[in-house]
Amino acid sequence: MQSIYNYSEEMLKEYLINLGLKPFRSKQIIEWLYRKKVKSFDEMTNISKDFIAKLKEDFYIDLLKCVVNQKSSDGTQKFLFELNDGNLIESVLMNNDYGYSICVTSEVGCNMGCVFCASGMKKKLRNLETSEMVKQILTVEEIAGIKITHIVVMGIGEPFDNYENVLNFFRIVNNPLGLEIGSRHITVSTCGLVDKIKEFALFPLQVNLALSLHAPTQEIRQEIMPIAKAYSLDKVIDAIKYYIDKTNRRVTLEYILLRDLNDTKECANKLADLIHGLNVYVNLIPYNEVKEKPYKRSEKFRMVEFFDILKKRHINVQLRREQGSDIDAACGQLRSKHMA
Ligand code: SAH
Repeated sequence: MQSIYNYSEEMLKEYLINLGLKPFRSKQIIEWLYRKKVKSFDEMTNISKDFIAKLKEDFYIDLLKCVVNQKSSDGTQKFLFELNDGNLIESVLMNNDYGYSICVTSEVGCNMGCVFCASGMKKKLRNLETSEMVKQILTVEEIAGIKITHIVVMGIGEPFDNYENVLNFFRIVNNPLGLEIGSRHITVSTCGLVDKIKEFALFPLQVNLALSLHAPTQEIRQEIMPIAKAYSLDKVIDAIKYYIDKTNRRVTLEYILLRDLNDTKECANKLADLIHGLNVYVNLIPYNEVKEKPYKRSEKFRMVEFFDILKKRHINVQLRREQGSDIDAACGQLRSKHMA
């Protein structure tokens, strides 16, 4: 017995074939689940009673239980969900001029241990199931009464540490018969798991890749991101080159600006040297301060200076605007507050 939202179209087809049924029935099921959004198998009126009884034996249809829904003055909404086993996860809904985007959690907790991040204060307890990611979309859409058009997998967890379930999630939300969220509207962010970046270069859906770079040198990077000890900066940049080579797609580099740590002019120039000639886009992110951590946000003039240096060096760069900072929207802060 499991959630039907774990099953991609391919998996449903295989399930049907094993039962001796016609694989095209999968299309009907997907339409009921993701277009008509039924909450029980009994509502699937073009499916035989016998088959409905079988579906009920093997699957359930459920959404997430929302325990907190905070609304920011800028329209951002944060959701704290309780999973069936009592674990808590967060999702953030952002209202942009191009549509609604959701920031999805991929794991219960995180083992990557980035020193500035609130998520890593709680160790990983388990992977999220595919269905638990799909249900973040469905539940937020239902509560907010909107249609999500963009997904970023930048919530709690390291998505490439839950690789198979995350890829299956992409297949399900991208399905044109279902939620139909375009692959180019989906972004997955990794702290730099080199083997998985290379594997992901071969994934057929054109999902965007973002790398949390956060430092221009190995020395600084390993000081703030323990994963850099396992995968050196050189290896990560090589993996990104490989990915760009294979996919011909631009990669986003995320760079949090931490006061006096990675925000100097020297860092900006080193970053420009490091990524010179690469098909990348640098997203400079003002640090969201976490009360348990000593790190500070860069001063405004420093951020602008950093931005200007990259611009002058002909790097594609933007300074990300902030959303939802009045509602603990920064990475794992709501969850950690409720687990204290
Ligand atoms: N594990 C993945 C995805 C989740 S984190 C990754 O590391 O990319 C998503 C992004 O938010 C990462 O770039 C992460 O470094 C950043 N982040 C974490 N804590 C933050 C904070 N307090 N303020 C701003 N960005 C933060």
